[in-house]
Amino acid sequence: MSPDFIREALRQVRYPGFSRDIVSFGLVKEVRCDPGLTTVRIEIQTRDPKVPEQVFQDCHSVLDALPDVGTVKVEIDVKDAPAAAGGLAGTVGKSSIPGVKRIIAVASGKGGVGKSTVAANLAVALAATGATVGLCDCDLYGPSVAQMFGTRERPLANEQDEIIPLQAHGIKLMSMGFLLEDRSPVIVRGPMATRYTQQFLRQVAWEDLDYLVLDLPPGTGDIQLTIVQTVSVDGVIIVTTPQEVALIDARKAVSMFAKVNVPVLGLIENMAWFECDAGKRYFLFGEGGGVREAEALEVPLLGRIPIDIETRERGDSGAPIALVSPAHHKVSAAFHEVAARIRTMVPAG
Ligand code: ADP
Repeated sequence: MSPDFIREALRQVRYPGFSRDIVSFGLVKEVRCDPGLTTVRIEIQTRDPKVPEQVFQDCHSVLDALPDVGTVKVEIDVKDAPAAAGGLAGTVGKSSIPGVKRIIAVASGKGGVGKSTVAANLAVALAATGATVGLCDCDLYGPSVAQMFGTRERPLANEQDEIIPLQAHGIKLMSMGFLLEDRSPVIVRGPMATRYTQQFLRQVAWEDLDYLVLDLPPGTGDIQLTIVQTVSVDGVIIVTTPQEVALIDARKAVSMFAKVNVPVLGLIENMAWFECDAGKRYFLFGEGGGVREAEALEVPLLGRIPIDIETRERGDSGAPIALVSPAHHKVSAAFHEVAARIRTMVPAG
């Protein structure tokens, strides 16, 4: 029996509440194989006594079942995690963002389906219900919230070195777009990207918010996982167009979030149809794909948003369509309905 073999076996042990295993999280600090005795030492940073208990039991179930290990000794060093704000700072552990009651993520399996448009309009429509709302653009590679809210100011830092979010249309905003030059190419990859994003989430002085809407980067990779595993996201909304290629990716997103125990609040079918002046609907990307997909995945269909020129124009010019009275615009009305549903599904108290 070799330490490498034991380490490999320990990959079956997940960190409680996470999809990742304790080896890839770097928590297994030492493995020793002496004649008749196998010792593993694990270091965990947490304030929850259930976490080391669970890891202890799971390690034993895996290792005790192996042949030739002799007596198995699992030692767990528990280090006190820093208080909420820095909960994840070192290793793992979801935490809430101080002052923020609810965190809603908006995701999509692929780019260009209108995820940022939905995030921006949802934020505006939630604010119209009387809630205090923040919007954080977590997309390092294509930040668009700055544009959608028509602001190019640079945020300042407060005395605690936290970034003070900007404000537009009553929403607190934070975006990588605020920190970049207009044309600077962002080439931050892998762990750097993860760290930047975590810093974003942790070092913004959001203060009191009922809802923080996170505009996630498109796709289902590490960065999306890091974000939803860094903070306790109350639920995720998945945006898709009715086209099969988008639906396939939306399906992947639903299953990824389900695996990491982030509740999928539902799908939004964007660009569902185009209605001409005469009132005829053209289903440019196919009809009812989102409806069928929501049924198949057994998640609610939260809304269907048509293709609409004013929605695009207002997005480009910094005044999201949901600012228009719902009585005067169908797309605005659709976003206000989504917001009302979210308020009921995830009440901010
Ligand atoms: P993503 O965040 O998924 O990449 P965006 O929200 O940036 O997508 O949208 C891509 C483009 O499509 C933007 O120009 C946006 O204004 C436009 N768009 C999004 N939804 C609609 C819609 N329902 N009607 C018209 N244009 C839309």
